[in-house]
Amino acid sequence: MSLLYKEIQKYESILNEIKKFPGILNIDVIDKDTGEPVLSHNYNSERLHIIPLLNSLVSDMLNKELCSTDEIVIKNKDKKYLIKPLNNTIIIIEYLLEFESEVFNIIKKFEGIINKIDKLTYKNLSVIPLKSILDNSKKKKVSVALFRLFRFVDFDKYFNISNEKIMFYFGKEIISSLNLRKFEDFVEFFKEYDIGKIDITNKNPITVDVYDCISCSGIGNINRTLCYFEAGLISGFFEEQKNIKFDITEVKCCGLGDNFCRFLLTSKKI
Ligand SMILES: [Zn+2]
Repeated sequence: MSLLYKEIQKYESILNEIKKFPGILNIDVIDKDTGEPVLSHNYNSERLHIIPLLNSLVSDMLNKELCSTDEIVIKNKDKKYLIKPLNNTIIIIEYLLEFESEVFNIIKKFEGIINKIDKLTYKNLSVIPLKSILDNSKKKKVSVALFRLFRFVDFDKYFNISNEKIMFYFGKEIISSLNLRKFEDFVEFFKEYDIGKIDITNKNPITVDVYDCISCSGIGNINRTLCYFEAGLISGFFEEQKNIKFDITEVKCCGLGDNFCRFLLTSKKI
């Protein structure tokens, strides 16, 4: 049995213990960056439904610094939600108003041990907090040349997987950790990190053009498309927005001799 599995079991049993206290209705533990439930098999479908809502609310509040990051309490008729960021996770405890002081005592009692397990669990999962990496690196501009060196490393030689595939899925991974709501936020994200100037030029099929693309701009005609990272970002964004899977094709690219990139999205045929 791996250490990780044992730690997760321990985590679950502690939360189950806490759940037994009168007045506590539910406990959710979600990943701070992705909003995914950490102990997913502990949830029924109804709970799974509410988690993304709570997560977006929490990340909104944290982003806008409307409150201290220690804990947040949301009041809702006879119930309250205590939202507590802890290391890499956010613990959300739903409880009845009349039990408020008891709930705080219980949390205090268990906080140390949960904190310890949370750290250990995440160390083993080696989760990369993409959003915090981005947030903390905003002012440090990296050179396009350096980005391209990483972009064009021949991973296939070492790991039997193409750089294109890695870049594509990495793009998707970044998007799912960013929680961007509107296309304007996506445009801003491209601008902020110098990925390119992005625009929707057709709605059906969804057509997205990128100028000054970080992967291919100025590279010259080498008879192939190059922008797999951007394709991952773009398809990831629209998949999250529309909640359907897309196939994406780059039909114009500086690598093909064009002066911009064009991506076409079509709903995925299953
Ligand atoms: Zn391109």
